[in-house]
Amino acid sequence: MPRFFISEQPENGLLTLHGEDAHHAGRVLRLRPGEAVTLCDGAGTDYDCVIETVEKEAVACRVQCSHPAETEPRQRFTLCMALPKGDKMDFIVQKAVELGVHEIIPYVSKNCVSRPDKTEKKVDRWRRIALEAAKQCGRGCLPQVEAVVTVEQAVERAAQCETALFFYENERETGLHDALSGGVGETVSLMIGPEGGFAPEEVEMAAQAGLRSVSLGTRILRCETAPIAALAAVLYAGGNM
Ligand code: SAH
Repeated sequence: MPRFFISEQPENGLLTLHGEDAHHAGRVLRLRPGEAVTLCDGAGTDYDCVIETVEKEAVACRVQCSHPAETEPRQRFTLCMALPKGDKMDFIVQKAVELGVHEIIPYVSKNCVSRPDKTEKKVDRWRRIALEAAKQCGRGCLPQVEAVVTVEQAVERAAQCETALFFYENERETGLHDALSGGVGETVSLMIGPEGGFAPEEVEMAAQAGLRSVSLGTRILRCETAPIAALAAVLYAGGNM
């Protein structure tokens, strides 16, 4: 079923798609009056609708019913991701959104190869990728991609989650399985380092802030593989698969 995010509330039982969305619905998907669409407010509510009129700039949809979106994970996941090289972040954002992440916080750490110049444009791009991925996979919440922050700020944000996981490539004692043996909290943060790995002072800072250092196994994963593997494993542990 075609799916769109809307920012308005229904008026007299109608929701209207405008601009690019109207173009996509009318011209690209060739939707016609009488066909069903799902509109989502991006905050967890879905509206099941039937198209009433199709115009170039506006597609009016009659709301049949509204209900909580059925596609959100049971927990709220925050991914703190060190800026990777090149366009790897495009892939990470897309896959993390598909897997159900609620927010992505890109950060700069000591060993980041990528320098954080012109990040505003990049963040805009990641937001567009997140929106497209959310539509494609049927998300009920529109995941947020935040502006690039420092490693200190990322640690602070990560520490606010009930379950705060620091994925450390040199962790030998604690596996993810052990770290989650007591269950998965309602809010979960996952912090992943850059290609160059975490600097010792960052490992120390994370521990001080209460993040739990965990291993993803004995092999070193690339910085684009690690968040996907970590998210999938925590989703599984949280009863989402
Ligand atoms: N250059 C580093 C590896 C960095 S991998 C080295 O050779 O040691 C990039 C990031 O992915 C790491 O900082 C960590 O957050 C995550 N990661 C990769 N493999 C991991 C593993 N086996 N356990 C936990 N985290 C891992």
